Amino acid sequence: MQSSLEKLRKFFRLEHENGYANTAVIGGLANILNFWESEARNDKLPEELIQATSVTLRGYADQTPEERAEALKSLWKQILEKVPEAAAAKKQTPVRAPRPQTIETRRENVPVPETPPVEERAAHASQDGGPAAQPPTPKSAPRLQRPVPGRANSRPGGVTSKRPIALNASLTVLAGVGPRHAAMLTRLGLNTLGDMLYNFPRRYDDYSRLKPIRDAFYGQQVTVIGTITMVDGRQTRGRKMSIVEAVINDGTAGLRLNWFNQPWLINRIKVGDAISVSGKIDQYLGRLVMNSPDWEPVEVENLHTNRIVPVYPLTANVTQKWLRKLMHQVVTYWAPKLTDHLPETIRTAANLPDLGMALLQVHFPDSDEKLQAARQRLAFDEIFFLQTGVLRQRRDWQSVAGRVFEVEDAWLEARLSALPFALTDAQKKAIADIRSDLKSGKPMNRLLQGDVGSGKTVVAALAASMVNQSGAQAAIMAPTSILSEQHYRNFTHLLAGENGLLQPEKIRLLIGDTPEKEKEEIRARLADGSIKIVVGTHALIEEPVTFADLQFVVVDEQHRFGVEQRAALRSKGTNPHLLVMTATPIPRSLALTLYGDLDLSVMDEMPPGRQVIQTYILTPRERERAYTLVHSQIKDSHQVFIIYPLVEESEKSELLAATQEHERLQKEVFPSLKLGLLHGRMKPEEKDAIMLAFRDRQYDILVSTTVVEVGVDVPNATLMLVEGANHFGLAQLHQLRGRVGRGEAQSYCLLIPDHEDAAENERLQAMAETNDGFVLAERDLQQRGPGEFLGTRQAGYATSLKMASLSDIHLIEKAREQAQALFARDPDLKDPENSLLAEALGRFWGSGKGDVS
Ligand code: ADP
Ligand code: MG
Repeated sequence: MQSSLEKLRKFFRLEHENGYANTAVIGGLANILNFWESEARNDKLPEELIQATSVTLRGYADQTPEERAEALKSLWKQILEKVPEAAAAKKQTPVRAPRPQTIETRRENVPVPETPPVEERAAHASQDGGPAAQPPTPKSAPRLQRPVPGRANSRPGGVTSKRPIALNASLTVLAGVGPRHAAMLTRLGLNTLGDMLYNFPRRYDDYSRLKPIRDAFYGQQVTVIGTITMVDGRQTRGRKMSIVEAVINDGTAGLRLNWFNQPWLINRIKVGDAISVSGKIDQYLGRLVMNSPDWEPVEVENLHTNRIVPVYPLTANVTQKWLRKLMHQVVTYWAPKLTDHLPETIRTAANLPDLGMALLQVHFPDSDEKLQAARQRLAFDEIFFLQTGVLRQRRDWQSVAGRVFEVEDAWLEARLSALPFALTDAQKKAIADIRSDLKSGKPMNRLLQGDVGSGKTVVAALAASMVNQSGAQAAIMAPTSILSEQHYRNFTHLLAGENGLLQPEKIRLLIGDTPEKEKEEIRARLADGSIKIVVGTHALIEEPVTFADLQFVVVDEQHRFGVEQRAALRSKGTNPHLLVMTATPIPRSLALTLYGDLDLSVMDEMPPGRQVIQTYILTPRERERAYTLVHSQIKDSHQVFIIYPLVEESEKSELLAATQEHERLQKEVFPSLKLGLLHGRMKPEEKDAIMLAFRDRQYDILVSTTVVEVGVDVPNATLMLVEGANHFGLAQLHQLRGRVGRGEAQSYCLLIPDHEDAAENERLQAMAETNDGFVLAERDLQQRGPGEFLGTRQAGYATSLKMASLSDIHLIEKAREQAQALFARDPDLKDPENSLLAEALGRFWGSGKGDVS
């Protein structure tokens, strides 16, 4: 099933379990639409289903639990009619009976219409004065906010001391807004006038594209306005679905409208009402119709004043008309009075409209061009604030001294010629970067990014030996024992071999399993400085380890460690040089945003002779072919990985999937072979033991969940079979594929999605087309958004971005350029021109600092 449908199913089920209390999603089910609609379009769901879902969910909050149950049920039915395969997954996950008392308790909270209607009050309010004539003034002491990144309403361009203090005022200062209305607005995240300015429309109705109904044709996306001449509600045969039918006539022609499973509309839309409807013109039995259009009562003034009208997110009891009026009041009065926090210099250089103009235009655009320019400006702010933050972080890093390590050319050349291979150009470049960091007098703070197998270890080893040559120590931390051992062997091989500089006893391994006696000895010899390089797991920081002179710290697979762990290792030296490594290719736009405080070395080149792993997408029906290849590989005494996805969120079912499949494969498919099992529920030692056993060929096949992802070398494994491949992002699949092809023999990767779906297969096809992790990462970012990459670090950033997209490399580079230029001109933001900016930045970042390593 398409992942967008899968998600819907999960939310619906959860909602069902919660007694339709609209709690399956924080803030209400309608909130998923922000991402869901585009995901669904990517999945190529029929547009009418997307529309139907959108309409159902938007009306959801306003309904009683009974109505909601009905609405979701019939929506799902509608989906099943169009996408029958969606049923397949459903039977695996039986729907539990709702908990009745949940419904009971919830019912009291079900919104009941307020009296008097808000429109009336607002209309009344604006009659006595109007916004401009009677500007909102604070009635109470302003509440100061201090946004931090990641908070829902944190935003650049927030409150500044020079901006009118009233923007911090609560919304009750507005004419026509009492405590009850303020409480309703709070549900929309709106607490202050400032919040209002940054409450961006979710879409716009473009009245400049109004169509006479007579001229509308099939397939067009239009807005039409007219009078309702007929409304009727009925059930389809078998009472599967309720339909509200209406006819709208604008004097040129009539157009039939259908709404599915929104029976309450019958009470909302009346003959004689003037409404506007937006949607796609469809065809039914030769007549033009519009199915489940967005609709709202016509506001005559829109027709004359605003050609493009904002449509805001709503909540119970807040009507579009009322909120829009309120927004208009606030925006038109306050936006022009804002002092822009972006200095003129930057605005001009980046060709951006000023803040007041941007806010005005983003709410009530004069034209599409002005709207786009406004969005650009607001998006720029978001990224610019992130960039100034990471760049300042970087500057803080560099404000302390780092020990200088000078490396002679002759020394380096000797080291290079002692290696068993010639470095790739990418490796040479990384070495050159590191060398210049080491002699800069500032602590290195570098991210070494290179695809699996690009040869990061030798770069780290050479860097360590540069530091060792003047007697200082280096520590290398890896997330698992097995990886630590692998590094330890490589380091020993590279640095303490025949031509090596170090005696083998100067490189040691420290992991949880190291015998206590040996640990003690290692600790003693780290403290007296006779061990020069220690490789290990978090044992390096958990044990009371002290160093005589730790000057270089390497963290491999850095995303697997928390901030504190990396900081803990660093703190064992005095401002040591830091190299963090990752094998996850990160698209450039993201790297600049999330890791903008680190210097970046990208190794985008593989050592020569690296084989291309042959990748094939098979349909579930072709699974036998996959098994045939498994057999033939094992016959050639190679080994095979079989990976199962984490289908459900819980670890329990992950365990189940892998365990059951392991059993089934062993019994029914490969009875004569030895199958190992690896999953996330195992303790780290158990996992390591299994991995080691597999590496030592005790198993032919390793059945595993994704825990196998880390950089473990099993050169004899030549086939990676991924089941349920559609559940993975391309970046993750690429990581999995990197587990094979590490030896001499031709290796293969087979991807089997769990259903036959052309669109999904097309996405997976990218895997067959390229072996370049960066290309795949870029596609992943475009298709699935930044979620895959955010992981542990600064994930909150993504949610603080309302306008900017983390995949917009052009915008990110522009913002970074400006931030860099700003730091070059005025690093401490002392210039009066930058004082507002300095304040705004301070508030955006709060007192918290970004995560550094
Ligand atoms: P990763 O970047 O995934 O950590 P490794 O450092 O483990 O990659 O290197 C993968 C393999 O490639 C190792 O066996 C290593 O010895 C080998 N290797 C590294 N650099 C080169 C090179 N320039 N030429 C040939 N082989 C290399
Ligand atoms: Mg590695």
